Amino acid sequence: QKCLSLIKKTKFLNAYITVSEEVALKQAEESEKRYKNGQSLGDLDGIPIAVKDNFSTSGIETTCASNMLKGYIPPYNATVVQKLLDQGALLMGKTNLDEFAMGSGSTDGVFGPVKNPWSYSKQYREKRKQNPHSENEDSDWLITGGSSGGSAAAVSAFTCYAALGSDTGGSTRNPAAHCGLVGFKPSYGLVSRHGLIPLVNSMDVPGILTRCVDDAAIVLGALAGPDPRDSTTVHEPINKPFMLPSLADVSKLCIGIPKEYLVPELSSEVQSLWSKAADLFESEGAKVIEVSLPHTSYSIVCYHVLCTSEVASNMARFDGLQYGHRCDIDVSTEAMYAATRREGFNDVVRGRILSGNFFLLKENYENYFVKAQKVRRLIANDFVNAFNSGVDVLLTPTTLSEAVPYLEFIKEDNRTRSAQDDIFTQAVNMAVSIPVALSNQGLPIGLQFIGRAFCDQQLLTVAKWFE
Ligand code: GLN
Repeated sequence: QKCLSLIKKTKFLNAYITVSEEVALKQAEESEKRYKNGQSLGDLDGIPIAVKDNFSTSGIETTCASNMLKGYIPPYNATVVQKLLDQGALLMGKTNLDEFAMGSGSTDGVFGPVKNPWSYSKQYREKRKQNPHSENEDSDWLITGGSSGGSAAAVSAFTCYAALGSDTGGSTRNPAAHCGLVGFKPSYGLVSRHGLIPLVNSMDVPGILTRCVDDAAIVLGALAGPDPRDSTTVHEPINKPFMLPSLADVSKLCIGIPKEYLVPELSSEVQSLWSKAADLFESEGAKVIEVSLPHTSYSIVCYHVLCTSEVASNMARFDGLQYGHRCDIDVSTEAMYAATRREGFNDVVRGRILSGNFFLLKENYENYFVKAQKVRRLIANDFVNAFNSGVDVLLTPTTLSEAVPYLEFIKEDNRTRSAQDDIFTQAVNMAVSIPVALSNQGLPIGLQFIGRAFCDQQLLTVAKWFE
């Protein structure tokens, strides 16, 4: 009830697209009954959780914040949603995002931008008042980061205890950093993607947003495991319940600091927190060394080619025939396809479909798509080489700076922004962002720990120690 009333109070944040009040109340009642009758409880029994609106939810509208899917009610639950429900979680609603999860601000969905709850903190408002150039309060608010900004705002505003995001190139970690939360991208293959409406199949992973690392571990424990409906899930054993030790020993760890991540655009505040964090590990006896990930500078371009190519192919299903939006034009099938897709997708999505189809043209395929796949292998090997040289965990910033005001953010187009904002997150398979401090403006700053694939428990243990 408390969470539902907070959802109403914070409606202006635009965190939710759909609030599933009835479902949540019914689930709460059942959970209470289980508790009262002394029945066994699930790991998430009675815990309010929100889900990004690109996960299919049976009987609940699933829009991807796009005109294309407005009104679409899936007949099945994504595997992760089903697992949440099986563990007793209460589904609070579906959260806002950039259309089809393409973006890094949560400003580009058809339901409008998400506002960062930290925009309204006392300290930040005081600081803004001192700034003569600051806009009036109505337009002077901060972005959440994205694309899982609705999920981040929902957790940060206490409307739920955890939320699912999706993380392809940073979409869970980026808003987590901007909203003062833990944002976790588990190892690709550990958590099923079945029912997550795809952006880039080869990189999409369901992400977890929580207020502390232990909560993220509990949710991961509930979600992880092989799924016959997702052939890329692996049979790696995972200890259940997934618990983290309360007192970790970091003195034997080797922490790697990738030198290529020290970019000129990095804010001095983030940089100084990054180096303080490294010092802290050193003072606990850990070895801190500089490492090189030499192909880092290619990752943004490489991601662009692979992302748009997979987008072009994924979006082909939205043709106005099977599901989703259909235009009124019926002069020919081609005209119907074209008008449906023009009306259904925003210009970011259409732009990516166009680029992707260009890269996939017969005469371009080898030069772009195949080459980008080779470059991806080199980038991935950089990480493997670092871990093979004895590094346990890499420590990096999550974002270049704290959250920026909306009016500043939209000065640049989505493509430029995404490329800049994802610089530390895009190339990474498994990583967690945790909040480390408040900036001079009173806004949260996060740092990222990157681990070797399938060492999720070790990574979260280190993050918990640091937290
Ligand atoms: N910002 C990146 C993009 O726009 C990543 C998105 C994501 O992780 N879903 O593609």
